[in-house]
Amino acid sequence: MTTEFLAGPATVTATDLALRYGGTQALDGVSLRLTRGVTGLLGPNGAGKTTLLRVLATAVPADGGEFTALGHDPGTASGRLALRRTLGYLPQTPGFHPNFTAFEFVDYVAILKELSDRTARHQEVRRVLEAVDLSDVRGKRLKRLSGGMRQRVALAAALVGDPGFLVLDEPTVGLDPEQRMRFRELIAEAGEGRTVLLSTHQTEDVAMLCHRVVVLSHGRVRFEGTPADLTARADGRVWSSAERDPGALAGWRTGTGTYRNIGDPPPGAELLDPTLEDGYLLTLDGESAEVSA
Ligand code: ADP
Repeated sequence: MTTEFLAGPATVTATDLALRYGGTQALDGVSLRLTRGVTGLLGPNGAGKTTLLRVLATAVPADGGEFTALGHDPGTASGRLALRRTLGYLPQTPGFHPNFTAFEFVDYVAILKELSDRTARHQEVRRVLEAVDLSDVRGKRLKRLSGGMRQRVALAAALVGDPGFLVLDEPTVGLDPEQRMRFRELIAEAGEGRTVLLSTHQTEDVAMLCHRVVVLSHGRVRFEGTPADLTARADGRVWSSAERDPGALAGWRTGTGTYRNIGDPPPGAELLDPTLEDGYLLTLDGESAEVSA
């Protein structure tokens, strides 16, 4: 994709990233550019989102292609180390020890991030717990915290050391709407001045939070641009009907009893305003995608 979609200079540039697990080509030539701010990574299950995030977070090496992030080349030992020092990674299943308190867990991550001075480290742990509004419960064991609070602890851990590049793997999964809203605010704050890549199943997360979006499917980038551009892909391609329209690429019954269809509308169809989700589904071209309610 061209640079006209980019707001500001590219901070992360990936070219032709490939990764194969046995017979599965999880990444099949992924090229993308990220800038400061929050970029959403959308795609159906198995699209390669987690694999891409793991590669960018230097948790696994790609077996083809290359990338640079914040000027560092992870293809060299020194570049990899420098990148890791400015990286915050929230994996899909953070390895929480249930008996750790929130403070102990984040402190442990801070030790792994080489913050060796105890006083300065503890100050940093308090700072990041404050940033995610968890100062009050920092002495509580993780097993006693709600799922939403645990995700905030994981975000705090990712924020230790003020990373310039934040990689968040489905951080809003399992959160109720209120927790999700709060979490989005925190990510938006974290995205000020930082490069954030956030994978999600929720097109709503992208619509509300992201300044750019990348759609991945079968290990390939299918779209890269602004949320408004993705929505615009569905202009004139969404319509309402009383019965399921057999000519639609996809259609579903809405709460009002009518059907919402996407694809090529029949003549005279009652066109509807498109949403980002419509644009996303059309980009996947009828491939099964999880439609969020
Ligand atoms: P997503 O996060 O979009 O759901 P993943 O990156 O987890 O996609 O997976 C991409 C593809 O790679 C899927 O087909 C998945 O089954 C496969 N895959 C992921 N991790 C492994 C692994 N460790 N071993 C073998 N196959 C894997």
